[in-house]
Amino acid sequence: LFLLFPLLLISESVVCAQEANQVIENQVQTLLSQMSLEEKVGQMTQIDFSLVSVANGQDVENPIDIDKLEHAILNRHVGSILNTPTTPNNKAQPIAKWRNMTQAIRDLTAKTRLKIPVIYGIDAIHGATYTQNAVLFPQAISMAATFNTDLSFREGEITAREVKASGLDWNFSPVMDIGRQPLWPRLWETFGEDVHLVSAMGSAFIRGHQGDDVAAANKAATCMKHYVGYSYPLNGKDRSPAWIGERALREYFLPSFEAGVLAGSPTVMINSAEVDGIPGHANYHYLTEILRGELGFKGFTVSDWEDIIRLHTRDKIAASPRDAVKVAVMAGVDMSMVPLDYSFYDLLLDLVKTGDVPMSRIDEAVSRILKVKVQAGLFELKQPALPVEGNFATEDAVAINRQAAEEAIVLAKNANHILPLSKHASILVTGPSANLLSVMNGGWTITWQGSAEELYPQDKLTLLKAIQQKTSGQVTYVGGQRFSDEINIEQAVTQARNHDVVVLALGENTYTETTGNIDSLELDPVQLQLARAIFAIGKPVILVTFGGRPRIITELAEQAQAVVLGFLPGMEGGVAMADILFGDVNPSGKLPITYPRATNDITPYDHKPMEAFELNQYRPLYAFGHGLSYTTFETSDLKIQQNRISLGESIELSVKVKNTGSIAGKETVLVYLNDEVASVTRPVKQLKAFKKIELEPGQQETLQFTLTAQDMSFIGLDMKRIVEPGEFKVMVGDETAQFTVLKN
Ligand code: BGC
Repeated sequence: LFLLFPLLLISESVVCAQEANQVIENQVQTLLSQMSLEEKVGQMTQIDFSLVSVANGQDVENPIDIDKLEHAILNRHVGSILNTPTTPNNKAQPIAKWRNMTQAIRDLTAKTRLKIPVIYGIDAIHGATYTQNAVLFPQAISMAATFNTDLSFREGEITAREVKASGLDWNFSPVMDIGRQPLWPRLWETFGEDVHLVSAMGSAFIRGHQGDDVAAANKAATCMKHYVGYSYPLNGKDRSPAWIGERALREYFLPSFEAGVLAGSPTVMINSAEVDGIPGHANYHYLTEILRGELGFKGFTVSDWEDIIRLHTRDKIAASPRDAVKVAVMAGVDMSMVPLDYSFYDLLLDLVKTGDVPMSRIDEAVSRILKVKVQAGLFELKQPALPVEGNFATEDAVAINRQAAEEAIVLAKNANHILPLSKHASILVTGPSANLLSVMNGGWTITWQGSAEELYPQDKLTLLKAIQQKTSGQVTYVGGQRFSDEINIEQAVTQARNHDVVVLALGENTYTETTGNIDSLELDPVQLQLARAIFAIGKPVILVTFGGRPRIITELAEQAQAVVLGFLPGMEGGVAMADILFGDVNPSGKLPITYPRATNDITPYDHKPMEAFELNQYRPLYAFGHGLSYTTFETSDLKIQQNRISLGESIELSVKVKNTGSIAGKETVLVYLNDEVASVTRPVKQLKAFKKIELEPGQQETLQFTLTAQDMSFIGLDMKRIVEPGEFKVMVGDETAQFTVLKN
């Protein structure tokens, strides 16, 4: 009975889940049977409706255009609204204004025939972006640098709580694209270059955000994006073609989305660009055959911004806007994100009336949308939860954010143990990133581009302010008010002479999407000029960088005594960076992406043998997984339990990790695998597992890992996933071990 008991419990919960599903299915079908064609097409329509807070320079008390909202809900039956503040005039809003908006939508919905709730989406990609005082976390590239899935889970939980408290139901997050093209301006929205890391961090976020029951008061629906291949433009520019063959698609780009489906994300946003000549929004093979047929996705898909119409205006694969709507809907797009002119709505109505789009396809899309609304609890009147101030920026949330920022910062170089700095040292702080919050937060912060520094919370500390608070030594600052301000180089040089050490904070201004397109990863000439002038003096320099992608710092990193890579650590980034510089926090971040030595040196760590063969050198400035600590760790005794296994079996391995230094520290242990000879070329190594642990000085821990057949598999000659018998090599730190998969 003891043995049977868990089985009974499992089968009981399966039955319960099936019953619950049936109830939802019945509710959806009953609704569907009552809906007019107009109401159905309305469900598939999403419009942009941002709160406008300022008009003619005056703060607007009630920022809602009620006529526009009334038309949308009562006349066009729209199923969804999204909020995208693009100018400082429609910036992050206080909770009270969100409350007005939410209430207005609910009041209008109550006047509709079937009272189907509107699902309200937002880009809360590092916290509730557009609500004042929300906790704004490190961006994804920095979360990935923590290698801490618990932190990603907690970020999901807190973000959902604050999104829900703002009266919103749906978050266009996480980005499940993999970041292997550093020129691409949205690289920082990804969890880095590695398939396993992106899958692990992204699915932890989804689980935290949705919990066991997405309808619960503090939970909200997620939206994985941008399915699929968006992150890999050949030319590095946003919304540009990717050429991804089927093997690469299945091996690198699909697994993170598959992990997201398993984690329960109910919605997917579509790639705005194209892969192999087929725009994301027209790709039946990807949207229907693979996403649903193979990955088993059951939720609904939403287009990206105006991308259906672009099949005609930009991509020229549709002869007219009407054709564009037909192609997209038939490919598998269930909901259209904008335009506001209702052309999607009008054209789709017409397409159904003329029989060009079958009613069955409309019913299918609408059922999926309704199902998500039911699952997310939108039909119960207690949902969407009205905004609740008490759920905001709670102590635990701020503490988690701080921990995330601390663990995200990567100490890349520390010559002669110059760090941590003494709190009595006299310091010159200079460079454009030193005194701005925006450069640590990136896009989708308060406004779309995140650059409205004047709107940032006054109580958060820039790096300069955090340093000033920490030390008793003299701190002098030479800098500008905005990122693009010229810095008085002469003055910086004079001041550098008078101080013990220089903290040189460089990097990038904030950006996202096409606005962030660049031609080279080099730093701009003015920053290089400042840096060279400072180095010429010969004082010790701590180079600190912030920004969304690795910028080339090779020349500067050689001369700097220490290099600390901040990426986008969020609102607590200044404090966390200062804590690390002065040794109050021991750094533990590791690079989630290869740091290139030069612009055209973007070979990832999991490259093919030929990328490091003969004249092709693999020579990153800093490798994936690199990150120093103020203590030292030693990895030893890598042991594989079974050195010979049958096809399909797993292996168990163990490895010892010891803190050999004199202070406590956190270490991430990375387990890599290589299939030594295979029928298609295999990467020299691939990350298959990782664990982050904390060790006291002298403490040793033995870690256990399991590598499954899935970990040993790859996409074979016939495009199917297989494990081939032969030798495999496991690598952990400097330790390696071998095992053999036998022919069955
Ligand atoms: C972006 C998406 C985003 C959407 C809504 C698009 O331009 O590509 O990532 O979710 O806008 O703001």
